[in-house]
Amino acid sequence: MKSPVEDYLAEVLASVREDRSGAVADYIPELATAPADRLGIALCTPDGRVYAAGDADTTFTIQSISKPFAYAAALIDRGPEVVRRSVGVEPSGEAFNELSLEKESRRPKNPMINAGAITTHQLLVSADAGGDERVHRVQAFFSQLANRELVIDEDVCASELSSADRNLALAHMLRNYGIIDVEPHRAVVGYIRQCSVSVSVRDLAVMCATLANAGRHPQTGETVMDAAVARQTMAVMAAAGMYDSAGEWFTTVGIPAKSGVAGGLIGALPGQCGIAVFSPRLDPHGNSVRGTRVFARLSDDMGMHLMGVE
Ligand code: GLN
Repeated sequence: MKSPVEDYLAEVLASVREDRSGAVADYIPELATAPADRLGIALCTPDGRVYAAGDADTTFTIQSISKPFAYAAALIDRGPEVVRRSVGVEPSGEAFNELSLEKESRRPKNPMINAGAITTHQLLVSADAGGDERVHRVQAFFSQLANRELVIDEDVCASELSSADRNLALAHMLRNYGIIDVEPHRAVVGYIRQCSVSVSVRDLAVMCATLANAGRHPQTGETVMDAAVARQTMAVMAAAGMYDSAGEWFTTVGIPAKSGVAGGLIGALPGQCGIAVFSPRLDPHGNSVRGTRVFARLSDDMGMHLMGVE
C-alpha cells in the first residue's frame, strides 16, 4: 500500500511532468538516446526507509553524482591532508568542464568540477595503486553505499570515451602541472568508468542518506565513513555541487546537492534524509530542469532550506 509520503511525492512529480524544457546531453552520443520523459524520485530516511514515486527503478549513469562519493572515498583512503594538497574546496562558479586551476597552487578548485574529479580519482586507494584497483574501489564503495551490487554501463562508457577530448585536455593540463602523474588517457579512462556506474534514484537516495546520516549506513547500520568525511563532502556539495549555479541553487533550495549530465540530481539534508530525482532534460548549466523544480518544491513545502524557512 502506498504511504501518504509517496502520494505526496507522486503529486510533486505530477506538478512538473508537463515541463519539457531543456535538452538531454548529447556530447556523450549514447546519452542523446535517453528516454527524456522519464521522471522519478526517491527519499531515504535515517532509519533506511525508502519512499519513491514515478520511474524510481529506471537506471541511468551516475555521471557527476559520482564525484562527491569518490571524494569521500579519497578522504577515507588518503586522509584530508593528502587530498587537500591536490584538490581545493573553493566554488569555481564555472562550468563543470572548465579548463581552470587555482592560480598559485595549480590545484583544481574543487572536486565537483571535472578537473577536480579526475584528480580525486587518482587519489583513490594509495599513491601507487593501478587503474583497475581504483575503478574497483569506487565501484565497490558505491555498491556498499547503495546496499546492492552496482555495475558499469559499458555502452555509455565506450561512448563517452570516444568523445573525451575535453577531459583528455584537462588530464594533460593536470599532468603538465604535476597534479597527477599518470598517463592522461589512463586517468580519463578511470574517471569515465567511475561516471558510468549505473544507478536508480532508489540507489542514489540510499547512498545520499549515508552522507546525511553522518556516515552511518541507514540500512546496514555500518559506519561507512567518519562523520568528518560526510561533513566535508556535504560542505563541498553545498559550495560547488551545482557548478556555475551553485549560489542560485543554495539561495533558493538550500540543500547540499549534486547533479549529473544523465539527469540525476541528489540532495543530502544533514540529519534528515537523502533525496534523488531523475529527469534527463538539462538546463544550460547541465542540471536537470524538472529535478531542480522538484527540489525547489520540496524545500518550500517541507521547510528543508538549511538557512531556515521564509
Ligand atoms: N562524465 C561526464 C563528463 O566528464 C560527467 C559530467 C557531468 O555529469 N556533469 O563530462
